[in-house]
Amino acid sequence: MALTRIGLAGLAVMGQNLALNIAEKGFPISVYNRTTSKKPRVVIMLVKAGAPVDQTIATLAAHLEQGDCIIDGGNEWYENTERREKAMEERGLLYLGMGVSGGEEGARNGPSLMPGGSLEAYKYIEDIVLKVAAQVPDSGPCVTYVGKGGSGNFVKMVHNGIEYGDMQLIAEAYDVLKSVGKLTNSELQQVFSEWNKGELLSFLIEITADIFGIKDEQGDGYLVDKVLDKTGMKGTGKWTVQQAAELSVAAPTIEASLDSRFLSGLKDERVEASKIFQGDYSTGLPVDKAQLIEDVRQALYASKICSYAQGMNIIKAKSSEKGWGLNLGELARIWKGGCIIRAIFLDRIKKAYDRNSDLANLLVDPEFAQEIVDRQAAWRRVVCLAINNGVSTPGMSASLAYFDSYRRDRLPANLVQAQRDYFGAHTYERVDMPGSFHTEWFKTA
Ligand code: NAP
Repeated sequence: MALTRIGLAGLAVMGQNLALNIAEKGFPISVYNRTTSKKPRVVIMLVKAGAPVDQTIATLAAHLEQGDCIIDGGNEWYENTERREKAMEERGLLYLGMGVSGGEEGARNGPSLMPGGSLEAYKYIEDIVLKVAAQVPDSGPCVTYVGKGGSGNFVKMVHNGIEYGDMQLIAEAYDVLKSVGKLTNSELQQVFSEWNKGELLSFLIEITADIFGIKDEQGDGYLVDKVLDKTGMKGTGKWTVQQAAELSVAAPTIEASLDSRFLSGLKDERVEASKIFQGDYSTGLPVDKAQLIEDVRQALYASKICSYAQGMNIIKAKSSEKGWGLNLGELARIWKGGCIIRAIFLDRIKKAYDRNSDLANLLVDPEFAQEIVDRQAAWRRVVCLAINNGVSTPGMSASLAYFDSYRRDRLPANLVQAQRDYFGAHTYERVDMPGSFHTEWFKTA
């Protein structure tokens, strides 16, 4: 057997396919799945996050020697990675937490890889990951050394949060076109295929178009109509929202996508509620289909900009809290291929951060600002139309509210602050003079 320099533990969907990919690129690899034991210098684990990772590390570490390296390729909580990195360091072992995106197909043919942790460890595997990662013409391999500590896992977690946002926004576009515009599945397939030729070009739009074309093999009609409207989840979206709150970063689009998954899970309750709130919620007004399709396309794009702005700001805030020094433009670059959110749109994000690496918000990048302005009329029309017809568009509405809050120089927060001072003596600042003030409001009133 050829001498291997890399091994992989965990041979389910992801582990198997990543191992095949590495081997195919000419790197002999040893694999382990609780039954086999080799002694490679670098081991990638692709097992369930949490306790299974600790158990696998315990098994592996017993066979490793000083200077050897363990890489966790799972969707691990970043603090677990930081804890393990420290523990491994004490034993003279190197450790990387490497986000892997792209699902089964990505693992097999080229994923987007987000390694963080020991730079020394990264340098040791750099030649391998540069070849194994998805390759994007003119942008290079979809991998970079993300940064120290748990930054690779953190970035992968936010990537997944953004993925939740993208999927929700696409689902809302579908809902408006189907429920208000009355488009058929074959019309939807055509629309999404057409969209995939322009600024929305992306893996998720592409697979959405495909989904509308799949007939049900077990009955009449299309499979999509037979799929239960109940979304599953594994936790990274929830972590993203929790982190946004911890960091005081507004992420309403990503939060709306998570809430939508929670509400989707209440299938039985929704069925009961639908009996209570019976009736026709549609306006019954005629809809210009061609206009609606174009408006929804623009609303989707504008909402997507807001969602990515939120995700990037979560990463930015964490990077500054932890001193990771993350390069947001480079992250947009490595998401251009291999991963679930891959899209032509990421090129624009990369360029925005190339123009200004310290950009406060993607919305104020001159190009994105113009794109939002150009699309806001259509965006408002879609949200109003959906509201008037009783169709929920939580992601698009949250995005629009995010934009409308962010762009206003004065918000009603003055009143909230006055209330806080009224009942809790929390003090307030004034617009016309410096200092901290408190008023005995109930006596003044
Ligand atoms: P998974 O269902 O998350 O995990 C199954 C693997 O974990 C199997 O190899 C299993 O071994 C091993 N395992 C479970 N408990 C263990 C324990 N106590 N000790 C040792 N090994 C244990 O598989 P997956 O979908 O391939 O995902 C692997 C990792 O990649 C996860 O962290 C996941 O979040 C992440 N990920 C998944 C995807 C995806 O699309 N599936 C995409 C990106 C990242 P046995 O065969 O012995 O049970």
